[in-house]
This record gives sequence, structure tokens and C-alpha cells, in this order.
Amino acid sequence: MNVCTTRLSKFSFEGLFSLSRFVAELTMKGWKQMLGTRTKLQQAIDEKQATLLAILRQLVAFQTVSPPARNTLDVQEFVKEQLTAAGFLVKQQAFYDQDALVSGKLRGREDSQHHSLLLNGHVDVAALTDRDRWQTDPFKLVQKGDQLYGRGVSDMKGAIACFLYLFQLLKQLDIHLPGDLLFQSVVGEEAGEAGTKTLLKQGETADFAVVGDTSDLAFQGQGGVVTGWITLKSPHTYHDGNRVNMLRAGGGLKAASMVEKMPVVIEALQKLEHYWAVTKQYPGFPAGTDTINPAYIEGGIHPAFVANECRLWITVHFYPNETIQQVTQEIEAAVTAAAKADPWLKETLPTFSWGGDSMLVDKGEIFPPLAIDQSSPAVQLLKQSHEQQLGKAPTINMSTSVSDGGWFDFYHIPAVTYGPGEMQQAHSDNETVRLSQLINYTKIMADFVLTWCSQAK
Ligand SMILES: [Zn+2]
Repeated sequence: MNVCTTRLSKFSFEGLFSLSRFVAELTMKGWKQMLGTRTKLQQAIDEKQATLLAILRQLVAFQTVSPPARNTLDVQEFVKEQLTAAGFLVKQQAFYDQDALVSGKLRGREDSQHHSLLLNGHVDVAALTDRDRWQTDPFKLVQKGDQLYGRGVSDMKGAIACFLYLFQLLKQLDIHLPGDLLFQSVVGEEAGEAGTKTLLKQGETADFAVVGDTSDLAFQGQGGVVTGWITLKSPHTYHDGNRVNMLRAGGGLKAASMVEKMPVVIEALQKLEHYWAVTKQYPGFPAGTDTINPAYIEGGIHPAFVANECRLWITVHFYPNETIQQVTQEIEAAVTAAAKADPWLKETLPTFSWGGDSMLVDKGEIFPPLAIDQSSPAVQLLKQSHEQQLGKAPTINMSTSVSDGGWFDFYHIPAVTYGPGEMQQAHSDNETVRLSQLINYTKIMADFVLTWCSQAK
């Protein structure tokens, strides 16, 4: 509570100054109203923390683990109820079986003339790989001092709870925004499934978007990711008994095991990865972030055969100034050249298949890159809201991981990934987030929603 009091008095003087551009666009009466509204909202965020905890408790209790996924209908029903109660027009649509996408819109009172904002989050959580290491029930929110424990509190039910809490307070305090406020509650993010892409492809849009995924309150962009399969396939299938004639001098059978030929591909990928590390760079990324991971391999029929096929599943990370087409073409050229130089592979060159809509269904994923435009008015305003609350500028960096933020860039919607929770907590056992950080995040987002959605286009 002390923190709050200091914040409010600090805002009254310094905040007035730092928002001068914004003030110029408001009448004096409007400005006074805005100050009053902001103060009311910030106070309520402190006073009604029990509501935030109650929302998060309910979100954590839904076991939305992915994989196996296909378990989000109940949590999405809960989100839908919350949005409807807050006055949002809500749309729900089927995604995969037993999975749904929910999006809502709180229509602004003068929406055609004011900025709109889209908040996005995913309600699926990472699988529990080390359940016996959990000291508490992962699906029960446990509070120990400032720490909150439970699966997904960092990634990213904590942020979703903050958004829903804020929507509820806007309704309770009878605050009507001039611009539209949109919210997308997606699923499938943990399995590379295209929940956010699906909604944006259908035309959902806004002047700016915040993806509340785990960033420890840093503004994060990201590189892109595309997965791919490289397949070696022999023109004939041979019984294991033929192997002797493939190896023996004078054996005469020109054939090879595709399992034994995959190292030609892997070596070509390693050479290209090394070349990229030396020749490519992008601000905010450590050199060598462009990686090619030979992640998974499968092949052969069973021991009575010479392996007639081998398939390698790779993960390619690329920089925001590169495209999927560019990087996949480079990989295809390098691997094909290596295969052409191999006497056995030159007549049956490798084939490639890139991307996909789900790691679980078509065994592929794409996460486009997200570059942050630091000069954009929305990023500037969000920065101000952050600074006013925390007394220092946000860190702006590039995530080494990926989130749905890239889909906004792909569909030409300026965006940033900005959410509570730490990366090392995401997907870990005893996942935790600080309640004080959730409160700070809610206040920052409240301030940003008020200022951005009140600003004329
Ligand atoms: Zn996440």
C-alpha cells in the first residue's frame, strides 16, 4: 500500500509533465476527468487484489496442459463469462476438438476517431515434465508471501488474470473508453498451433497489440522460427540380406541405407549454421542466434530391411530481417549441394517440407519474427506508463524464445510482447510469479489502456 501512495503523489507532478503531448489533445475538462479516472482505477487495483487472486486461482485450476492439449473448453467458457460480464461482445469458435478460441471487443464510445488496442494471451500451459518435483499441487494457486505458485502463473495465466481483472474494474468503475479494447484468449501456443494466426487471418485487428507472454516486464521482440522435415528416400527397398552386396568389393548393388546417409545432411546443416553465425547479425541478439537444430530423427522399417527412408525434423531460428523463404532456400541449396556431391545421394536428392500449423497434428510450426518499432507512439506511451509505475525505463530486448507476438508483425499490426513472469519460470517445476509484479503490470496496462484508447487517431 505504501508503494501505491508514493506512486500516486509522484504521478500528480511528474506524470503531468511527461504526458504533455497527450494533454495537448484533450480539453481541460477532459484532462481532469482522465486524472480522476486514472486515480480511481489505480486505487481500485490495489484495493481489490483479492479479485485478481480469485481470477488467477480459477484459471490455474483448469488443467489446460499442452501436450496433450484438447482441454480448453472449460477455461474458455470461464474467460467468455468474464468478458461478457465486463461488457465485451464475445465470439467463440471451435479450434481443434475440445479446444476453442475466444475473442472479445469492448466497443469504444467514439471508436472511429480513437486508437484501438488488442491484448492477447494463451490459456494453454506447458506439460508437467517433473511433477514429482513440485512442492505444491500445480493446479492449485498457492501464495507464500509475495510468491504465487501454480502451473502457468508465469506462462501466462498471470497476465490473463491481470487483463480480466482490469476489464472487470473498468466495468465496475463505469469507465467508458473512447477507442476499442479487444482481447484474444487463444490456445495452442505451447504446441506451435496457430490460434492467434487464425484470429488475425479472419481480420481481427487494432492499431496496436500487446501480447502478455512471459517477459519479466521487458519489451520484447523476437526472431522467427520455422520447422522443417528433410527426407532421404531410396528408390528401392532391400532385404537386409542384400547388405553384403552393397558393401563388398564387386558386390555390384548400388544402394545405400538412408539412415547411414543422413549424416551427409546433418554435416551440411552444421556447416551452414556455422557460416550464418559468422556472417549474420541483428541488433539485440547474441551472434549465432540463427541456429539449425537437428531435433528429431526417424527412419527405416525394421531390422530385416536396409533403411529405405530417413527423416530429419529440424528447427530453424532466424533474424527479424530475414524471411522464411530466404532461410529455407539457403538450407535447401546447402543440403542439395552436399547430396549432389555424394555418389549415392546424387540420383535421389533429399526433399523438404517446411512449417505447419501444429506440432501435434501436422508436425510443424511457424512463429514469425517480431521487430519492435521504438519510435511508434504506442510504444512511447507504454514506455511512459511503465516508467511512471516502476520509476525506470523498461528493458527493450529480443527474446531467445518465441511467442505469438510475431503473428501481429506478420499481419502488419504494430505489437510488443510484454508480460509478467520470468523466462526461467516458464515451463519449470514449482512455477512462480510475484503478486507485486502482477499488480504493477495491471496498473501499467490500466494506464496504457486509458491513454492509448483516449488518443485521437
Ligand atoms: Zn507463453
